[in-house]
Amino acid sequence: MNKDVIVLNCGSSSVKFAIINAENGEAGLSGLAENLGNNDARLSYKLNGEKVQRELPAQADHAQALNVIQQVIDKTGVKPIAIGHRVVHGGEKFKQAALVDNSVLEAIEKYAVMAPLHNMANLKGIVTAQKAYPELPHVAVFDTSFFQSMPQKAFMYALPMELYKSHGIRRYGFHGTSHKFILDSMAKLLQKSVQETSIISAHLGNGCSVSAIEQGKAVDTSLGFTPLEGLVMGTRCGDLDPSLPTILQKQLGKTADEIAALLNKASGLLGISELSNDCRTLEDAANNGHEGALLAIEIFCYRLAKYISGYMVCVPSLDAIVFTGGIGENSSLIRSTTIGYFKHFGIALDEQKNLDARFGQGGEISTSDSSTAVFVVPTNEEWVIAAEAATFS
Ligand code: AMP
Repeated sequence: MNKDVIVLNCGSSSVKFAIINAENGEAGLSGLAENLGNNDARLSYKLNGEKVQRELPAQADHAQALNVIQQVIDKTGVKPIAIGHRVVHGGEKFKQAALVDNSVLEAIEKYAVMAPLHNMANLKGIVTAQKAYPELPHVAVFDTSFFQSMPQKAFMYALPMELYKSHGIRRYGFHGTSHKFILDSMAKLLQKSVQETSIISAHLGNGCSVSAIEQGKAVDTSLGFTPLEGLVMGTRCGDLDPSLPTILQKQLGKTADEIAALLNKASGLLGISELSNDCRTLEDAANNGHEGALLAIEIFCYRLAKYISGYMVCVPSLDAIVFTGGIGENSSLIRSTTIGYFKHFGIALDEQKNLDARFGQGGEISTSDSSTAVFVVPTNEEWVIAAEAATFS
């Protein structure tokens, strides 16, 4: 039976798209329209292994890009059964994926207060795609849903209760589709049911988050009200003394928006290293003795190790610590430096397995006598979105 699903991820100036087989996660087509609204708007895609690049009309918008994407999809001859849309913020309303109707669109718009750039772009993508594919079910898959199982003690800030009650100020978490994929994959690898699987999963890419998952349920996660809290990321600072933004605003004479840009775009690995947000560049530089790169990697791993150890408190049945994302899947240095902090917990990596770790489905990198297993599992967020969307077809 045909299981092909279109997966769309609309950003403020980009549309990421793919055709994913919801059963096996294979991508027949994947691509990106970028620089939308600019003169150099362009489209690139990979179809059955072959790469194609093409210009889009100058200043092409989301609708024009989707039009061209639709032509590319039509040419493949694939007959999609549903469209899965990545939506960043689903507030407290969406505990799972939802078939898009007017009330869902209204809620996505309402939650745009909490993720203005993302949710409005996601909304634009859905409305445009609905016009292009009126006959297909459109399904919104939220980054936040997976974390709706967190207990109140984990999601509340120690702020006046009124801010939660009237303004929804709380921790929501993001990267939910990735952590869900890792949970499902680990259940398969450990040959357990999802409900019996307990892990601490570290998604380390340009954005980074670590999640505590006890018996199939997310119980804590490091990203908060926005994707700025928690770990050190490519350009985001993660945890910070909450007084700092106001102090910096006064001392540097910057506006609130300028400080937000500094914390989101000029901090993290880039800010510390004064070199790059790219982990590969930093590893190369660190090998050549670049002090900023060495320090950035050290702080990144130290913060991550502190989070993982903290989450051991909320995962009493811990089966494994899992690394994923561009850095988590590829950087043996980040994995060994981080797990190095757990020597006195009896957790140890098999360094050869750690160096060799290139797993199709994921695999173990810890020693046979490690007190907790450590795994590397490649994530596949698009597969989760496709699989959720397919259930509505
Ligand atoms: P993502 O956002 O998941 O695509 O991850 C992007 C991050 O993964 C960037 O910081 C890359 O430098 C990092 N990355 C990708 N490949 C490698 C690699 N072979 N070694 C170290 N970091 C890598």
